[in-house]
Amino acid sequence: MQGTSHVHHYAERRSSSARGVEDRQLLDLSGSHVASTLKTYFNNSELEEHMRGYAHRCGAVSRLFSVGDSVEGRPLWALEISSRPGIEEAKPSFKYVANMHGDEPSGRQLLLAVAEWLCANHATDERAKRIVEEMHLFLLPTMNPDGFERRQRPNARHVDLNRDFPDPFEHGEAGIVEPSGKEQPETLAIMKWILSRHFVASASLHEGALVANYPWDGTADRGTHYSRAPDDAAFLHLAHVYADAHATMHASHEFKGGVTNGAHWYPLWGGMQDWNYIVGDCLELTLELAPNKWPPPQDLPRLFEENLPAMLALPLTSCFGGVRGFVRERGASGRLLGEGGAPGKGRPLGATIHVSGIDKTMSASSTYGDFYRPLSPGTYNVTAAMAGYATETVTVTIPADGSGEMVEFHLGRAGPEAVTKWNLARKFGPLREATPEPVAFSEAVNARIVQNVVFVMAGLAVLMLLRAAHHRFYARSSSRLAAPGGLHSSPHRRSPLR
Ligand SMILES: [Zn+2]
Repeated sequence: MQGTSHVHHYAERRSSSARGVEDRQLLDLSGSHVASTLKTYFNNSELEEHMRGYAHRCGAVSRLFSVGDSVEGRPLWALEISSRPGIEEAKPSFKYVANMHGDEPSGRQLLLAVAEWLCANHATDERAKRIVEEMHLFLLPTMNPDGFERRQRPNARHVDLNRDFPDPFEHGEAGIVEPSGKEQPETLAIMKWILSRHFVASASLHEGALVANYPWDGTADRGTHYSRAPDDAAFLHLAHVYADAHATMHASHEFKGGVTNGAHWYPLWGGMQDWNYIVGDCLELTLELAPNKWPPPQDLPRLFEENLPAMLALPLTSCFGGVRGFVRERGASGRLLGEGGAPGKGRPLGATIHVSGIDKTMSASSTYGDFYRPLSPGTYNVTAAMAGYATETVTVTIPADGSGEMVEFHLGRAGPEAVTKWNLARKFGPLREATPEPVAFSEAVNARIVQNVVFVMAGLAVLMLLRAAHHRFYARSSSRLAAPGGLHSSPHRRSPLR
């Protein structure tokens, strides 16, 4: 289904190579802070020192924090890049996580360089400006500082962190929201982080190949074959966005278009990517950025130049290139509820957002009612549903230019008085009538509502469990010895790459 339209779409994108020239000129600042991050691999102390310096120098657009500690007590530092860091806003979040495998370090320096580039260019470059002002970008340069210290793939307890997440194929969707209790501290820290905030999408940076890999990584039958996630088309689209904006990835001889489905390449279970998607509603890619592991430091400027346009395009397309908007309450009178009943000020609703043809619901934020769903170009029926309210459906057409579609849903209370007008969902741009909803679909959506309530309650329980598990882990960590191959090394560790 993605065949012809994608070919056309990406052919258009690839022709805009002027961007590369533009970026090269910006990078030609010898002695700049960007260049200083691309001379060598910082050790863990230097990394922390640099990030602290950055958060001070670029404090207006950043915040430094730690999501947790490694086995050996090294903080997992992260930068939030935003014009209002640390403030919850009606804006989307995206994250980059690097160095999950200790012997794949290039992402550490690349993320620091991206941070520096955004700080230096957000006033002048439209992409940087949009990232800083309209979203929250999170950069975690090392998820495995202990492994980096030893120049080894696994963490200090010899566990491959990309086999350490609860796996939907092994334990079922419902069985993986809670940690098993065996996860490593690094894994638990990332799980807790993902549950604490909704990331629209993300990417994990690796080395050993040159390809954008997308879910599923796992398969139900343990076989090696294409494993289609509900958002397969969106995943494929985002993988192409990265590969096409990358200087060479899209021209790969090994991978058509520079992209691959994870399980089609080789399956793995317990990976971070699948867990992000199924539990976090976060569309994560696994990016292999260099054919060889631990590239020599003199390659870092070239790697940055090759990846920068892609590293900007991915968050922007993920957050703004699909369907996004708000869900708010509307009163029985047809007026929006809220302060003074002013238009656009209805009470925000954390409704579920369903997209026709995609068997995966996601939620609007209960704080602001804002939602973001990455989609591949095409036409979709998008439905907002919430218990106690009548569902609303609109038809959106996602253009190929990455600009996305905005929708505002105004849900009326379910009941006889609310049945007068259903096409209240207002689209920005050309006005279109709401698509009437088939009855069978409404029932399906109602079932989704129940699922959603259960999911939210389960989520709360998990957060409490995670906290408890976190504390338990530290209480026991000193007495917990790692067996060779790790506490629960997977029998499926077939690859040294992702
Ligand atoms: Zn890797």
